[in-house]
Amino acid sequence: MKNVVVLGAGYGSISFLKKLHPKVFDFAKVTLISKYDYHYISILLHEVVGGINNETTFLIRDIIPNQVCFVNDEVVEITQDKIICKNEHYAYDYLVVGLGFQSDDFGIQGVKEFSFPIEDFKNASLLNQKIVSQIDRYKQTKDESDLRFIVCGGGFSGIETIGALLVGLKQICLQKSVDFNLVEIVCIEAMLDILPMFPNELVNKAKIFLKDCGVKLATGCKILRCENRRVVVQESEKERIFDGGLIIWTAGVKGNLVIEKSEFFTSHRSKVEVDSYLQPIAQKNQDLMKNIYIIGDCCMLKDPDTNRFYPPTGQIAIKQGEYLGKAFSNRILGLGVEKFTYKSQGTVCSIGDKYAIGLVGKNKISGFFAMRLKRVIEKKWLFKILGLKGLFK
Ligand SMILES: Cc1cc2nc3c(=O)[nH]c(=O)nc-3n(C[C@H](O)[C@H](O)[C@H](O)COP(=O)(O)OP(=O)(O)OC[C@H]3O[C@@H](n4cnc5c(N)ncnc54)[C@H](O)[C@@H]3O)c2cc1C
Repeated sequence: MKNVVVLGAGYGSISFLKKLHPKVFDFAKVTLISKYDYHYISILLHEVVGGINNETTFLIRDIIPNQVCFVNDEVVEITQDKIICKNEHYAYDYLVVGLGFQSDDFGIQGVKEFSFPIEDFKNASLLNQKIVSQIDRYKQTKDESDLRFIVCGGGFSGIETIGALLVGLKQICLQKSVDFNLVEIVCIEAMLDILPMFPNELVNKAKIFLKDCGVKLATGCKILRCENRRVVVQESEKERIFDGGLIIWTAGVKGNLVIEKSEFFTSHRSKVEVDSYLQPIAQKNQDLMKNIYIIGDCCMLKDPDTNRFYPPTGQIAIKQGEYLGKAFSNRILGLGVEKFTYKSQGTVCSIGDKYAIGLVGKNKISGFFAMRLKRVIEKKWLFKILGLKGLFK
């Protein structure tokens, strides 16, 4: 029996396991190692932060094939022949790495100490508790800066987080009898505009929506450092200070730090470059990579049409996992293996629970319809992991 070890229980890894051919289990022992005993829906972490969605976690044992052995442990390092975890070491013959993303502070001073990133379900829940405490604190201090929430980063996850905060904070304020009109949400973005992945027409719609909701957009502000309850930026050659009760960091992500810490890999921003079979390339230990696959946010794959790396998304992680499940089964069963190909099905960015903007093919969509489409996309994943039950969640 060969030992197949899969790391992480996110979009990529779960999709991989779901697509394995049942015959693979006659030849291989498949083990999934993940930090938590539940799978969380990473694309909804902003809703956990806002406290507006409490159906985003599912027990791993309930969603993976019965033949897969599940180990609840935290990976610390990957070496040539074993996975070093907090509790034990695990040997492997074949390895699939799907450890996802981690927040990137780009080396900016004070980010780690004074701001809160969004990285996984546990930390998103803690951030939600911080937000609630912040409102409680205001009730004691009556200091209006306690009600100022600063979101660093006006990209996709930053804007989705702001949308969830708008809905969540309104609910918390209502429960705690605090005037929601006193709440201020500020978005700090280094570039001259937000949401660079969308065309101007959609960006303008998003900006109008955000401004109507009272969100302050500080674009063209390069963050120099974070301090206690303060973000210092450079705006047109001058320093400007934003004071606030809570600083949320959504300015960028990189691959999982385990990759960076594992000297076995040659990596860039904790990601490993892979070829169209999702196997590492440009490695110092290239000859040791023939049984290793990296999927999702831990890998960098070039789009052959543009020669640029695909952006990290749940969508591509699922496609890579599904492809690899089939390709790996074929390899084990002695059948032919095709290359991975990918066409994005579009992007939809929610701003709250009733409004979204999206680009689907060449079609620009916005408003409630776009939000409904976003919910359909989410349901599709629930259907994949839970079957029909998922549609009624
Ligand atoms: C707020 C937000 C909104 C987003 N919205 C969208 C969207 O609308 N559409 C979209 O396509 N993408 C979206 N994304 C991006 C998307 O979430 C990621 O690209 C996707 O989750 C990557 O999938 P993955 O399989 O690589 O890893 P993940 O789904 O992140 O899973 C990683 C897994 O590894 C486990 N793990 C991590 N570290 C360890 C360790 N040391 N040891 C063991 N296990 C570990 C985790 O517990 C988890 O199970 C969003 C991201 C954020 C933060």
